[in-house]
Amino acid sequence: MKTILVTGGAGFIGSHLCERLLNEGNSVIALDNFFSGSKENVVHLLQNPYFELVRHDVTMPFFAEVDEIYNLACPASPIHYQYNPIKTIKTSVMGAINMLGLAKRVKAKILQASTSEVYGDPDVHPQVESYWGNVNPIGIRSCYDEGKRCAESLFVNYNHQNNVDIKVIRIFNTYGPRMLPNDGRVVSNFIVQALQNQNITVYGDGSQTRSFQFVDDLVDGMLQMMKTENFTGPVNIGNPREFTILELAEMVIKMTGSKSKIVFEPLPQDDPTQRQPEITLAKEKLDWEPKVPLEEGLKKTIAYFKTIIN
Ligand code: NAD
Ligand code: UDP
Repeated sequence: MKTILVTGGAGFIGSHLCERLLNEGNSVIALDNFFSGSKENVVHLLQNPYFELVRHDVTMPFFAEVDEIYNLACPASPIHYQYNPIKTIKTSVMGAINMLGLAKRVKAKILQASTSEVYGDPDVHPQVESYWGNVNPIGIRSCYDEGKRCAESLFVNYNHQNNVDIKVIRIFNTYGPRMLPNDGRVVSNFIVQALQNQNITVYGDGSQTRSFQFVDDLVDGMLQMMKTENFTGPVNIGNPREFTILELAEMVIKMTGSKSKIVFEPLPQDDPTQRQPEITLAKEKLDWEPKVPLEEGLKKTIAYFKTIIN
């Protein structure tokens, strides 16, 4: 039985990952400071004797004997990561240093949850791993984007300098049950607005694109990446099917049978105009590709939100 550390384990993605790792017979330690995650996300796992939930901030060192580390701790929605931008940078940078130091000491494999945001507002489309990105280093998204870019640099250098067995994945927009209803991300916003027959708030003219991945596909990709030998990444993990934000709004209205109307609001600063992963590398190295179409994933996500609102 492996002992696996998941930082950010009480968050949206972390909770799904912990559940899956336990189902596969591992012992799991979830670390979380509960900034954007919560005990409710993992309450169903607390009875499992092989699951430990620890309140801990990754900006502080952590000591445990573990075989693998998944480093997910970091607020991911713009509302949360912009609430305290300095803390967001500290979480990405000091969190990476502390977890890499732990990995080095106990010789654990360590996976970093990086992001498509390292490509910024990309002028290469679709985004391929060799593209260096177009990030505004002083814009409102920079605390997140640059923190994650610095974490990637730390990972690569711990690998080169100290032989730490690293894995870097760049995650594209992911959605599913246990997203927070109020964290401002587009899928949760639109579903909650539609279920409450409120206006659907499309920012800008809605022609900007995103490619949405269901959380189960991402967890598959994470596990496949951890299993690889002699491959550090970075590798894109996302669903290449690209939608405009307006198309998403229309789809959510149709699927919920909502009376909501679409309204247009100002586009936030530095909002990327397009995003689509190139996943040839993931197919080749991980034997992975996403399986869940948007309609199917949205159906499950809408069902979840129906249980927590109204
Ligand atoms: P989330 O906010 O639900 O999860 C992040 C978790 O980290 C939360 O439980 C939060 O409380 C915890 N956390 C934050 N700061 C911490 C700290 N200093 N110490 C300990 N715990 C801390 O977000 P998520 O969508 O589950 O994202 C998980 C990871 O995946 C993040 O690293 C994020 O950057 C990355 N990611 C997510 C997406 C996406 O679309 N959801 C896309 C790209 C990358
Ligand atoms: N968005 C929107 N209405 C909302 C929330 C978001 O039109 O109520 C847009 C946002 O401007 C962006 C896209 O949806 O263009 C995705 O936003 P999200 O915050 O989910 O992800 P990110 O921008 O970080 O990819």
